[in-house]
Amino acid sequence: MRQSEFIKEILAYNVKANIAMIRKAYVLAEKAHKGQKREGGEEYFSHPLGAAQILIELKADSATICAALLHDVVEDTDVSIEKIKSLFGDEIASLVEGVTKIEKIHFKRKEDYTSENLRKILLATAKDIRVMLIKLADRLHNMRTLKALRSDKQQRVARETLEIYAPIAHKLGVWRIKGELEDLSLRYLEPDVYRFLASKIAGKRTERENHTTEITKTIKRKLKEKGVVAAVFGRAKYFYSIYKKMKKKNIAFNEIYDLIAIRIITKTIPDCYSALGLIHDSFKPIPHRFKDYISVPKSNGYQSLHTSVITDKGKILEFQIRTEEMHYVAEDGVAAHWRYQGTERDKMFDKKISWLKQLLEWRTFASSSSEFIETLKMDLFVDEMVVFTPKGDPISLPYEATPVDFAYMVHTNIGNHCSKALINNKIAPMESKLESGDIIEIMTNKNAKPSRHWLKFVKTSKARSKIKSFLGMDIDQEKKSEKSKQVDISKCVQIVGKKAPIKVSKCCNPQLFDPIVGFYTKDKKITLHKKSCPNIHTLEKNKEVPILWIEKRGFPVAKLRLTLEDKVGALARVLNLFASYKVNIRGVTTKPKKEHVVTTISVELTGGVKVDEILSELKKLDIIVAVEEVKS
Ligand code: MN
Repeated sequence: MRQSEFIKEILAYNVKANIAMIRKAYVLAEKAHKGQKREGGEEYFSHPLGAAQILIELKADSATICAALLHDVVEDTDVSIEKIKSLFGDEIASLVEGVTKIEKIHFKRKEDYTSENLRKILLATAKDIRVMLIKLADRLHNMRTLKALRSDKQQRVARETLEIYAPIAHKLGVWRIKGELEDLSLRYLEPDVYRFLASKIAGKRTERENHTTEITKTIKRKLKEKGVVAAVFGRAKYFYSIYKKMKKKNIAFNEIYDLIAIRIITKTIPDCYSALGLIHDSFKPIPHRFKDYISVPKSNGYQSLHTSVITDKGKILEFQIRTEEMHYVAEDGVAAHWRYQGTERDKMFDKKISWLKQLLEWRTFASSSSEFIETLKMDLFVDEMVVFTPKGDPISLPYEATPVDFAYMVHTNIGNHCSKALINNKIAPMESKLESGDIIEIMTNKNAKPSRHWLKFVKTSKARSKIKSFLGMDIDQEKKSEKSKQVDISKCVQIVGKKAPIKVSKCCNPQLFDPIVGFYTKDKKITLHKKSCPNIHTLEKNKEVPILWIEKRGFPVAKLRLTLEDKVGALARVLNLFASYKVNIRGVTTKPKKEHVVTTISVELTGGVKVDEILSELKKLDIIVAVEEVKS
C-alpha cells in the first residue's frame, strides 16, 4: 500500500490526525527495514504496515499508528529507542518500548504458568492499554501470514494465539480481532474442521458481511421511522464460534442455521418489544425459536430477546434485542470464563480490565468526535504494577518497588530472611526497581536478617514497618509524607530529551505549574527551581536543563476525580458527557475501591469550557457518588 492511500484511510476517520508525524514514522520504518525480508519472501516493512492498518480499522489515534509502524524497528534494525524518543517524543517511544518488552518476556518454564497467568503477565506488562492493542494487531498480521512458516512453528504460534491472545482480545472486547485470531488458529490447529466448515458455509465471509450490512441498514431505517432509538450491529458468525457451538451442544453442522447474528441495542425495555414486533413484521419468524429472557432472565442474570427469522432470500438470521445496560452485562457475562476465582487482588485486576474495556468500546463507537478521541490515553496501572512469583502468582506492588517489598508482600518471614533476589532469572541487587511483568524469586537464609539500609529504598509500608519492628525502631511518618510530595511533583514534569531523577529544591519550593528550570547536580540528578529563585544565578549556566510541566500544552488542564457506582456502562455515560462539551480527554485512570470505582480524568479545557459547568452536569448523573476537582 502506498503512503498516500494509507494516510487517506486515517483522515477518513480523523481529520485532526498528526499526519506529519505519521509520515515521518512511515518513512523511517520503511527505510530502516529496507533489504529485510519476511519468511514468505516479501519486504519486511509489509508487516508493520499491515499491523498499522489493522489499528486504523479500530480508529486508533496517531501515536498508536506511529508506534505500530515502528514496533519492530528497535528489535530488528540499528535504530535505537533513544533515536525514536528524540524523533517522535516520549509517548510514541514508550509505546514502542512496551511492545518490544512484551516480545522479550521469557519464562523460566512455560509449564509453570497457567494460560490465565500468562495473559495477566502480558496485560500487566502492557501498562498502557494501547501497547496491548498494537501487540494484538502485530499477532493478527503474523497469523494472516502464517502460511510461510514451518509447520511446527505454525502449530506453536497458532496454539499460543488461541490460548493467550484471543482471550485477551475477548477480555478487552476487541471482537473483530478476537474472531479472526480464533478462525486463523483453527485453520492451522484443526485443518480438517476448518476445511469442512469452509465448504459447508455457502458464500464467502465478505459476501455474508455484505448481506448483513444490507439488512442492518434496512432495520435501522425502519426503527427510525417507528421512532425507536437503537444501535444495530450485524456480524457473520465466525468459524470458530460455530465449531465451539457444535462441540458444546454436540450437534451436527446442519442443525446450526443462524450463521448471521444481528444485535439491536435499545434505550428502554418497551423499545425492545417494539423492535421485536418490527422484526416479526418484516421477516418470517421460525417457530419455537423465540425466547424472552427479559421477562424470564437466565440464571446468570442474562437478559435479552432472541428470535430467528428467514429473509426473502432464504437466509436465516438470529436476532438479539436488549437494552444498553443488559448489553454491557451480557458482554461481561460472556467473559466470565476468565474471571478469577482467586484473591481480592485478582478481583481488583479483573475489575480494572473490565473498566478499560468499557473505555475501549466507547472509543470505538464514539466516532463522531474524532478530535476528542485523538488524545484519549488509557493507563492500566499508573501507580502500581503486577509482578510474579516463579509459579506465576501475581503480586501487586507500588511503582518502583524493590525485591525486598516483594519478599515482605509474599510473607513476613521471607522478607526477614531474604538473602538474594533473582529478577527474570538473573541475580539482582536488593534495591533494584522492579517493573511490571518481572518474575521474582527470593532466596532465603535462616541467618539473613533485615538491614537498616533497606529503609532507604523500600516502597511499601508493609516492608517498612516490618523492617522497623525487626530492628526495634519507630515508624517515621513525617519523612514518608515529605517524600510522597516530591514524587507528585516529579511525575508532572518532563525533561526535554533526557531522563534523570528529579529533586525539588528546598530553597524556593516550587509548586505545580510555577515557571521552573532544572539544573544537573553532581550525582546526575536534576533539581527543580522556580525561575524566580534567587539562588539559580549562583548555579552554572551549562548545567541548566529545560523542563516542561507535562500537564501544560496550550489549554488549561483540569483534573477531576469521580467516584462512580461500579455499574457496567457507567464510564461510557461519563465520557459521553465530556464528549458533548467537545473537550479533549488527556488521560483516564480507574481504580476499584470497595463497591465503587474511582476514576481520575484529565481534561483539556478547549473552547473556553468552565470546569464548574462540567462538574454540575456530572453531579446530575445517578451513577456519580462524588465528584471533585483535584487541585495540585
Ligand atoms: Mn511484529
